[in-house]
Amino acid sequence: MKAVLEGIMTPSYVSDEDVDLQAYGFDASGLRGVPKCVAWPGDAEQVRRTIVRASQSKISLVPRGFGTNLVGGTVAQNAVVLDLTRMGRILRLDRRNALVTVEAGCSLHKLQRFLGRQGMALPFETVHEHHTVGGLMGVNQCGFLSVAFGRFSELVHEYEFLDGTGKLHVTKDVGLLGGLEGCGGVVVQMTLKVHKPVRVLSMDVVVSRQLHEVVARVEELRKVPEVLRLEFLDSFSADILGLGEGYVVLVGYEDERGRIRDEGHIAKYWEDYQGLDGVLSRKGFVLREDGEFPLGRMYDAVAWCEERKIPVRGHVGLGVLLPMFGERSLQAEWYRFVRDCGGDVRGAYGIGLKKKPFVGREVKERLKDVKERFDYHNVFNPGKIMEYR
Ligand SMILES: Cc1cc2nc3c(=O)[nH]c(=O)nc-3n(C[C@H](O)[C@H](O)[C@H](O)COP(=O)(O)OP(=O)(O)OC[C@H]3O[C@@H](n4cnc5c(N)ncnc54)[C@H](O)[C@@H]3O)c2cc1C
Repeated sequence: MKAVLEGIMTPSYVSDEDVDLQAYGFDASGLRGVPKCVAWPGDAEQVRRTIVRASQSKISLVPRGFGTNLVGGTVAQNAVVLDLTRMGRILRLDRRNALVTVEAGCSLHKLQRFLGRQGMALPFETVHEHHTVGGLMGVNQCGFLSVAFGRFSELVHEYEFLDGTGKLHVTKDVGLLGGLEGCGGVVVQMTLKVHKPVRVLSMDVVVSRQLHEVVARVEELRKVPEVLRLEFLDSFSADILGLGEGYVVLVGYEDERGRIRDEGHIAKYWEDYQGLDGVLSRKGFVLREDGEFPLGRMYDAVAWCEERKIPVRGHVGLGVLLPMFGERSLQAEWYRFVRDCGGDVRGAYGIGLKKKPFVGREVKERLKDVKERFDYHNVFNPGKIMEYR
């Protein structure tokens, strides 16, 4: 297998050794596969040549960043894993237009450190920063600032990708590949919109025993432009963090309208919130699930979790709930419920292999259209999101 990729990159950057096949046989989903081989291309030209060779030899490719997705999006079965993390260069900073151009394997951590030194930031924050920008766009991730700045794809100004024949495309159409989990092309470079550093200057902790009151408050807060963060906790989670008795919404503002203004206190609230999943894991709630709901169904979704004693929090500003399950047996019921509510099973984490049985028609049609146009021979990430050809 290794021989197929011979001459494209230094031999040490292609491996079919058992230790590498084992290490790349899974991602953060815990699902497993057995790749044929792992390649670590160093630039877009090496990716292009790999695609051409793979396509000629009818071999599938699985684009991969850090493999932290939770849905099996980078689990490879009889395919070559294309680890893009060597392509992590920061190429250009255009201060005048507030744009930064990076290779797709650049980590969020590296990019934020770089921008921080320039007095700028990418307005995107998650629990940790060990994601590549390619992976973030692949799942169209949402983070703590997404209520104000949108999901990751909304921060992409322009990107370059290679299709299933190795042809390069440059586009501003983020709807084309954003959230398609590496099934439509390999993104090799992107230009992102940067911002002045974003800081929460004040916050409120909204507590209520009445879920409908909390939902109504969220509806109001979603319309306030100064809201930077809007996170929900059920009463079980709120109790763990000592936030009060009832449901809680943590609201972060970019100005001083909130009642809590002390920098240290604000930092502590968010730190505790970000540490919640770790605390829940230690209590046996180890499975991260998700779902995006219309606000009108938020009440039902939280009630569903409570009836089954499943703790739930989430990016409520986007309608995204993130329950933590203790056992797998309820997963299918949950994703059917999300769909029946008119919600989106992609939620925060995407579809991958894990949620394939529940994916909606709209997503399938979109992927089919992209496959027909850019990956007719199904070179990229076959079997993810849906079966094609
Ligand atoms: C502890 C933990 C907490 C998390 N919390 C959140 C959360 O709060 N919200 C949330 O949304 N997600 C969350 N995630 C999920 C995860 O972090 C995201 O899926 C992340 O964006 C993946 O980045 P990555 O570089 O690891 O991508 P990978 O996992 O390597 O890839 C993700 C997808 O993108 C595709 N891909 C990668 N690079 C490219 C490329 N260059 N071109 C085309 N396709 C590509 C892959 O094929 C795959 O389908 C969490 C994960 C963990 C482990």
